[in-house]
Amino acid sequence: MSETYVIAKDKSIRARVYARYCMAAYNRAKSCGKFEIKRVHRAFGLAFKELTTGETPDYQTTMKSCTCKDYQLGKRWNRGFCKHMIAKMIVRRAKDYMHDEHMKVIREKKAEEEKERKRLVAFQIELRRKALELG
Ligand SMILES: [Zn+2]
Repeated sequence: MSETYVIAKDKSIRARVYARYCMAAYNRAKSCGKFEIKRVHRAFGLAFKELTTGETPDYQTTMKSCTCKDYQLGKRWNRGFCKHMIAKMIVRRAKDYMHDEHMKVIREKKAEEEKERKRLVAFQIELRRKALELG
């Protein structure tokens, strides 16, 4: 995912935008029942850091495995997910939410432009009709 979806250049505004999507993704992860809540909680911090700074922990993490100790040793009690894996999922979902909203804004803008164009055409027709009446 490129930076196309970064809505604002200002760092603090950008952080707020990211926080909103990150929070939505976090809530979803919390309520899905697949993960341990305390790990989801820790994953939020990691996900937010990755979204705002691009920094990720020094582990090889995929959606299916991680090289951290927690995952390697704790597969039995962490339901198969460490905080890094959950963070990855939160980041992906947050970006999906961001993308969806970005596309929605573009669609709405296009619809608005189309409406404006039709208004303009109707106005031009009306002008021509008036001009004919007067002429
Ligand atoms: Zn891990």
